[in-house]
Amino acid sequence: MDEYALIKKIIQPTYRRDELIKGIGDDSAVFRSSEADTVVAVDTFVENVHFTKETLAPWQIGYRLLGANISDMAAMGAEPLFYLVSIVLPNGIDDHFVVEVFSGMDQLAAKFGIDLIGGDTVSGTELALSLTIIGSVPRGKARYRSHARAGDVVFVTGTLGDSRAGLQLLLQKEQIESDDTLRQRLIKKHQQPEPRVHFAKALRKIDRVALNDVSDGIANELHEIAEQSDVTIEINDAHIPISDGLRLFSKSEQTNFKYFGGEDFELVGTVSETNFPVVKKEGEKLGVKVTEIGSISYNKERNGNVYVYKEDSIKRLQKHGYVHKSRENNDEIKDD
Ligand code: ADP
Ligand code: MG
Repeated sequence: MDEYALIKKIIQPTYRRDELIKGIGDDSAVFRSSEADTVVAVDTFVENVHFTKETLAPWQIGYRLLGANISDMAAMGAEPLFYLVSIVLPNGIDDHFVVEVFSGMDQLAAKFGIDLIGGDTVSGTELALSLTIIGSVPRGKARYRSHARAGDVVFVTGTLGDSRAGLQLLLQKEQIESDDTLRQRLIKKHQQPEPRVHFAKALRKIDRVALNDVSDGIANELHEIAEQSDVTIEINDAHIPISDGLRLFSKSEQTNFKYFGGEDFELVGTVSETNFPVVKKEGEKLGVKVTEIGSISYNKERNGNVYVYKEDSIKRLQKHGYVHKSRENNDEIKDD
């Protein structure tokens, strides 16, 4: 592998950000920070663990990897600026494949005006990509999972479970007709997620918002908020927004995908009742559907937990499954 020749092929012809002083080509990149807080995250994709070449084209591997990282920025209320990519290449992967992966990243990078400013390229036994993203947020305005308070409204953007449903369709390997828009949308949601950066930025006028992105499924993300904020979350099953595409699946798949199917890269958050209309309005302006799905309370015995109201019963939601909660005696009985 000629690393130098490869880097020449993936380098951006021009940089988009004014803050950048030195891009690819030296021992490190250099950019000048303003007074803002700097936000950094990293995500790693390993072939056959986090993705397969069967369900993602090379450019989509890049698109999704960067998408997942940009979504982490959105979940902090931050604006993405730069990214670096470390790539492990096994034998048999040619330059063309790598160039395609990077072109997928650049497609999304162009949308958000961000720059690839460095990385590392090494040989190994498994195809793996690790992406580091750097962003900024006005001082003190980073949105933490610990920001939820009793009385808050719990909201979510878009619809849930679509990415997992799209993956299911891809794994079934059935031909999906191009005019089958419902199923095509699910597949697109899996292959080209749309991080909610603009929406998160539009919420900056609000003092306090807790935010988390739906990367592992809402059951997991709600628990993270409940635990880190030391509050109780109650949500209403019937209010969880799902797409018409998801309704094509069995009831149990719908439930499974909407709670536990990750990688929708939507945002889940909590905000005071007073400010919820502002969240809704900002969503409307940007064409982002915002749905109220529940509320936050403070209850020492229950804090850290998430409860789901469904068909007249309350169930305690587990991070990866249900536990039934009987109203009479508060016993917890496993559902299945
Ligand atoms: P060094 O030996 O100093 O680590 P390298 O030869 O690894 O430098 O890299 C040369 C330049 O190319 C550096 O600016 C580095 O950030 C960039 N680079 C290397 N691999 C990648 C990659 N996969 N993506 C983006 N930039 C890369
Ligand atoms: Mg190096």
